[in-house]
Amino acid sequence: MSYLVLARKWRPQTFDDVIGQEHVTRTLRNAIRSERVAHAFLFTGPRGVGKTTTARLLAKALNCKQGPTPEPCNACSQCEEITNGSAIDVLEIDGASHTGVDNVRDLTEGVQYRPATGRFRVVIIDEVHMLSNAAFNALLKTLEEPPPHVKFIFATTESHKILQTILSRCQRYDFKRIPLRDLIQQLEHLTQAEGFECDEAGLALLAREADGSLRDAESLLDQVVAWSNGRVDEAAVRDALGVADRQALFRVVEAILAEDPAQVLRLTGDLYQYGYDPRRLCHDLLTHFHDLVVAKVSADVSVLADLPDHEVEIVRKQAALRSREDLQRFFAALLETEEAVRKSAYTQLVIEMALVKLASQPPVLPIQEALTKLEELQTQLGSSSSRPAPARQQRFRPAASAGSVGSIESVESVWSSGLKDPKDSKDPKDSKDPKDPKDPTAEHLEQGEQWDGFLATVRSRKISLFFALKAGYLLDVTPTALQIGVDKDPYLKELLRQENRTVLEESAEQFFGRKLSVEVQKERPGPATKQPNSPPGEGDRPQKSAPDPAGSVDPLVRTALDILGGEIQTRRPSRASGT
Ligand SMILES: [Zn+2]
Repeated sequence: MSYLVLARKWRPQTFDDVIGQEHVTRTLRNAIRSERVAHAFLFTGPRGVGKTTTARLLAKALNCKQGPTPEPCNACSQCEEITNGSAIDVLEIDGASHTGVDNVRDLTEGVQYRPATGRFRVVIIDEVHMLSNAAFNALLKTLEEPPPHVKFIFATTESHKILQTILSRCQRYDFKRIPLRDLIQQLEHLTQAEGFECDEAGLALLAREADGSLRDAESLLDQVVAWSNGRVDEAAVRDALGVADRQALFRVVEAILAEDPAQVLRLTGDLYQYGYDPRRLCHDLLTHFHDLVVAKVSADVSVLADLPDHEVEIVRKQAALRSREDLQRFFAALLETEEAVRKSAYTQLVIEMALVKLASQPPVLPIQEALTKLEELQTQLGSSSSRPAPARQQRFRPAASAGSVGSIESVESVWSSGLKDPKDSKDPKDSKDPKDPKDPTAEHLEQGEQWDGFLATVRSRKISLFFALKAGYLLDVTPTALQIGVDKDPYLKELLRQENRTVLEESAEQFFGRKLSVEVQKERPGPATKQPNSPPGEGDRPQKSAPDPAGSVDPLVRTALDILGGEIQTRRPSRASGT
C-alpha cells in the first residue's frame, strides 16, 4: 500500500474537523441550514490554513445526496467522488496555471449546462489572484448573472490583487493563521493516532516552524518521522529540520540578561556548529525580546497565546529580570542588528558583536528612580540649593514692607496684567489699574526673577517637580493664586498630581510669603500669554527658554547641566520626534 502523506490522510472531512477557522465554518453551516447560500465565495488567508479544504467541504455540503446539509454524510456517491477528486460537477482549477482568458471562457461556457449528477456545479479556483485582468473580466459576466445551479468558490492568499468588481460580487471569508496552541494540539492528536513517540518541546518546535500553517506542520511532521523513524522529540525535530532547539536560544537570552558576554559568545558559537543561520538567530531573538516586553507590560495570559505553556513560564521569569525600558532597548538594538545583518557579508561577526554589546549593557536606571536618588543625595547634602529661595524673599519683601499688605497685591496686579492675556482675566482687580503708583516696567523686570526664585524654592523641596516646572512658565500671580501654564502633557500631568500640588503650594507660601492656591493649566506659550500692556522688549522676558546665542538648548537639558555640571558635546536628533 502506498504511503499517503499526513496532510492528505488527515484532510478534514467535516466542518468540525477544520482547525482554527470556526468563524468561517459556523457561518457557512448556518448559511446552508437556512438555505441562504451565496453564489460566489472568496476564501482569503495565509497558505495551508484550510481554504481549499473548506471549499471542498462546502461543495460536499451542497451536493451530498442527504443535502444540502451542514453535515455531509461522507458515504453517498457524491461525497465519495468529491473526497477522491473525481466528481464531475465539482471543478477544481489552479489559477496559477489557468491564467488566460481562453481558460476562463471555456469555464464559463461549461457551467451554463446543468449539473450531470449533483445539485450544483461548483467551480473552485485556487490562487485566483493569478488570473489575468482579461480573464477576470471574462469571469465577471458570469458572476453578474450566474445560472442558479452554479457556485463559485475562489481561494487566494493575496486578496488585494483581485479586482474590486470581482470582490464586490463575492461573499468574503477571511481565514486566519492557526494559533500555535491549536497547531500543537492537532499535532498531538495526530501523532497519538499514528503511534509516533513525541514530547511537548518537539511538537512545539515543529509547530513554530510551521508558522500558522497546518499543512506545513503536517508536511514537517512527515519529514521528521521519516528521519527519526517515528520519534518526534525535540532532538529529532532539531536534527531533521536543522533548527536550533529553543533551550539554546533561551540560554543566549539568559546570558544577555545576566551581562555575561563571554557566555553569549560561547553559546552562539555552539549554535553555528549546529548550522543555525545567524539571520535566523537574529530573527528568533527579536521575537523573543518582543515576547519579553509583552510579558512585562501585561499579566494577561492570552497575550502570550502563541507560546506553549513551558515557554510562557520561561518568558515570564526572564522578563522579571529587567525593566521594560531595558527590554525595549534590547529589542530596538536587535532590530538595528537585523538590518545590519541583512546588508553585511559577515553576518556571524555582526551578530556576535551586537550580542556582546547587548550583554555588556548594565540596566538603565529609570528616570524616576534617578530623580529620586538625586533628591536623596540633595537631602543628604543639606540642601544647599535652598539658599536662593530666602534670598528671593529678601528681595521681594522690601517692596512689600514699603507699604501695606495691600501694596503687595497692587504690585502683583500690575505685574500680572502685563503678563497675561486680558481674556484670561477673571478678577477685575487683576486688570491694569492706571492709578497704581508702581512703575510697571520695574515690576516687569522682577517677574522673571520671581519665577526663578519660585523655581529655586521648588527645587530645594523636590527636584523631580522642579524639572517638570521648568518646562512651564508663570502666567499670573493674583492676591490669592499663582497661575502656571504648561503646554506639554507629561509635565502638566506631573504638576497636577496631588502630592506635587501640595509641594507647589508650600513653595509658593515660602517664596511669596502668603498662602496662594496654585493653578496649573494647559497653555501654549506664545504672544497671547505674554501679551504686553508693557513696552516692547520688557513683557516678553521669557520664563521658559532664555535666549541662547549658541542655539536653543532645551530647558531640561540646561537644568541638568546646571545641576550635574558638564557640557554639551554633540547633539543628536531626538529619536522620539523623528527629526
Ligand atoms: Zn453525502
